[in-house]
Amino acid sequence: MSGFSFPILPTGHLLGIEGLEPPHINALLDLAESYALLNRQGKTQRDLLKGRTLINLFFEDSTRTRTSFELAGKRLGADIVNMSVSTSSVNKGETLLDTAATLNAMKTDLLVVRHPQSGAPSLLAQKVDAAVINAGDGTHEHPTQALLDALTIRRHKGALSDLVVAICGDVLHSRVARSNIHLLSAMGARLRVVGPPTLIPAECARLGVQVFHDMRAGLADADVVMMLRLQKERMTCGLVPSSREYFRFFGLDAAKLEVAKPDAIVMHPGPMNRGVEIDSAVADDPARSVIGEQVEMGVAVRMAVLDVLSRRLRRNA
Ligand code: ASP
Repeated sequence: MSGFSFPILPTGHLLGIEGLEPPHINALLDLAESYALLNRQGKTQRDLLKGRTLINLFFEDSTRTRTSFELAGKRLGADIVNMSVSTSSVNKGETLLDTAATLNAMKTDLLVVRHPQSGAPSLLAQKVDAAVINAGDGTHEHPTQALLDALTIRRHKGALSDLVVAICGDVLHSRVARSNIHLLSAMGARLRVVGPPTLIPAECARLGVQVFHDMRAGLADADVVMMLRLQKERMTCGLVPSSREYFRFFGLDAAKLEVAKPDAIVMHPGPMNRGVEIDSAVADDPARSVIGEQVEMGVAVRMAVLDVLSRRLRRNA
């Protein structure tokens, strides 16, 4: 968006929320808000990334994130290539570096990467000329998810500081939780994590997050309830009892939600496991659930990130 001044990001990439300061976060959210407005008006800015190439390089499954980066890039006029690499065919280290060399030879401008290994996007960033955006790496970070979550919260609550945010469920395997903890604590929110001891990493207490193993205690007076999927694909051993048992203690239903603030919003990054971590009646309750709006804000946030990271290219053009 022209005329929008922006504090320089610490690197030319978006590899994580850790390391971003509140002025960066606020500026990205303000820019994303203006793109959200443009999207609602059905307008595009196809001249912004005209002639630029964006590659979506996904080594893991994705529905929302990949489509949303594709839409964001298209609305800004970029040429998009989607590359899906099946995990089984990937011989990590060496193959990743070979991939980097190939992409570099193709003169890619923006590289959106999802990878099962934590740290893969930052390794790529060291090897390619393109601006790299982390679209989720292992259990490490998912920065654009945290930004879209923050934008959604801000639209409902006005500000992020002093809000009580309860992040519930499989925190151990969640890059979404990690990015949200970095972002929301930097912005002054009061953070809680809620889940069985087997799914709460020890680092939470070190990060100044309050830990709860009981849903009603953890949700008491919360402004925001963020549910996480049970990431069974990342569990190497049985960390939870049956799905039914899990739902009984940690699944969000109307009864458990009652102890949160009357205007508390319910979030979920998707994909949802209905009847495991969240009851359909809550997920589909328009008075409480902002899950659809999170998806909408995802496109706006990704437009803002592409815009900001391509400013360097536009300056050099
Ligand atoms: N879509 C999110 C991610 O890629 C959350 C999830 O998969 O549960 O991390």
